[in-house]
Amino acid sequence: MTTQIPHDWLPGFPVTTAGFLRISASQVGAENNRACHDFISLKSRPAAKIGEGYLQLRYPPFESFPLGIVRDALLSSISNEKVIHEFEDKDEIAEIAINDAISKSRGHVEKSHKLWAVDALVGYLTAWEKARVEDMAHNIDFTDLEVIQAFDDTEDSHTEWFAWGIYLTSHDGKVREFRALKFSRAGLTTLNPVRAGVIARILADGVPHSEPSWSSPRDPIYKVLAPAQEVRIREIGCLDASQAIVLTASVEDARNLFTKSLPTIIERVKGGTQKSGPNCRSCRANTMCETLPNRPGLLGITAFAPWPKAYSPSKFHTYRRCPRQYFLQDELGLRTKPETQNSAQQRGLLVHAWLEQAHKRSKACEISDLPTPTSLGVIAIELSWNQDEANVALPFLAQHQLTCPINSDSQVATEIAVEALDTDADISISTRPDLVYKNGEDLVWREMKTVSSIKDLENDIYFNIYPQLPLAIRLMVENALPKDVLTKLGDFKNKRVELELISSDECKIITWDCDDETVKLAAWSQLAEQVDTWASDTLFAPSSNPPCNWCKVSQWCEFANAEQVKADIGGLQVDLKTGEIIENSSIPLLSNDDRVAKALGLVASLAEVSENDEDIPF
Ligand code: SF4
Ligand code: SF4
Ligand SMILES: [Zn+2]
Repeated sequence: MTTQIPHDWLPGFPVTTAGFLRISASQVGAENNRACHDFISLKSRPAAKIGEGYLQLRYPPFESFPLGIVRDALLSSISNEKVIHEFEDKDEIAEIAINDAISKSRGHVEKSHKLWAVDALVGYLTAWEKARVEDMAHNIDFTDLEVIQAFDDTEDSHTEWFAWGIYLTSHDGKVREFRALKFSRAGLTTLNPVRAGVIARILADGVPHSEPSWSSPRDPIYKVLAPAQEVRIREIGCLDASQAIVLTASVEDARNLFTKSLPTIIERVKGGTQKSGPNCRSCRANTMCETLPNRPGLLGITAFAPWPKAYSPSKFHTYRRCPRQYFLQDELGLRTKPETQNSAQQRGLLVHAWLEQAHKRSKACEISDLPTPTSLGVIAIELSWNQDEANVALPFLAQHQLTCPINSDSQVATEIAVEALDTDADISISTRPDLVYKNGEDLVWREMKTVSSIKDLENDIYFNIYPQLPLAIRLMVENALPKDVLTKLGDFKNKRVELELISSDECKIITWDCDDETVKLAAWSQLAEQVDTWASDTLFAPSSNPPCNWCKVSQWCEFANAEQVKADIGGLQVDLKTGEIIENSSIPLLSNDDRVAKALGLVASLAEVSENDEDIPF
């Protein structure tokens, strides 16, 4: 089959040259809620030249894609004349293959990255052996391994289809399989149909190809592979050695699946709409994008980041717990198996989920919405909670209900993300407000935090404890809320940021007026102080109070010290396991005490759940 993708390319940024198309299955198959068409359209054109005035993309001095060396090492471990399926000593094979891959890698590979990659490769090889057992039971013997992609060449266009993974063909040539590399949970998440369609097409029509530089078109090598009869996609998870076949199709069905995906592909590759999100950081058009607010100086720092960094309150919380943890999770991108949370995190997640679900309705939270000790109530049922979960959240929800700010005249926006780019610092910014609403002429950004008890503190100390607050004020002052949200909410006159502190027996609201000069200045200087150390850090030394005993990346960290269970901040003690201050009557919690701000800041960071993005970047 030959498919022609229309030539139109209509992104929101100026284009000088379009060049050929190389379409990636995972990029064009991004989930709807995060697919930026302009980003996909640009990434699909490796030779494209766009208008002047963009920030040259810079890269960190270390390898930041953790699966890269794992794939290289995997290929060398399984490739011989015939594909290897059984391994005598996986630990030894993995160690040698990863060392070899590192010696050929261009960037510097950190020690933790190497340790992670060895574990990941052992996981892959274990899953690889499990797949072999299944295949042999069905008389399928995969012997051939080729790196392939599909081509659509017409007189005036050249299109390539590719997917990052391993391609195997059976000895009799009848079955061809794509093995996708995942972090974990193979077969447990839904396969995106557009991504599946592109991979199916490559399996049906793919051929080996030349390997010039990334920005040059590849040449197909025809007549090497005979077409298969059946194609399959199998996922393999490196961290949990999971594996599962997620698609089996005849070649004809594979092409049909591709044809069904084409309208979405064509729309995305054409560009013309934007969706800001994690891709903005590495988007070449980010300084020319109308949707991503460019705000030079937003963060108030004087330094230019050593490489383009992404700031969010969640990342800052991880950094405050332990800079090393931040480095391993967020800069090196080491992923972990999903793990249990501490009690403060559990409580926070439950209460936030309930409030978000309730406020989506744009009406006040009523007593009748709340769970009771014996029944769930309509909202908890929508969230598929069990009674234990409802019981944990109930005392906090009951306190919120008494002061719920929403009424039937309120305009409400939930589940929104606010993104911006500080071009002076080359730092992209993202945050998710808990609630944005408009009551009358007041536009309000509200953060909601569950705490074990509410202390009597000066208002500005909360800027230090919750980095969301000074950032929210800056983003409100700089008018950086997404345009579609502002359009939905309508006109307003006043802007404020609120903090709702909810304990099991009290609820307190603190308010900052975003037009008040003193508030503006205090928020800006506090934000700059928080971001400055993080932005200029290139060493990422462990903190003096690292929560190693529940750190998700501790098994690959050379500084892990699981013995430490308490943090001591000038006599104030924080339990690193529960994430709470250990109250001590001889040291009262004074509102003007710097130690209190520090201890409560650490407590707030321990209660935060870090983001774990599962996406493969191409
Ligand atoms: S900057 Fe962000 S929103 Fe704009 S085109 Fe790039 S990825 Fe899309
Ligand atoms: S194990 Fe400890 S020192 Fe290492 S990253 Fe985790 S918290 Fe930091
Ligand atoms: Zn409410």
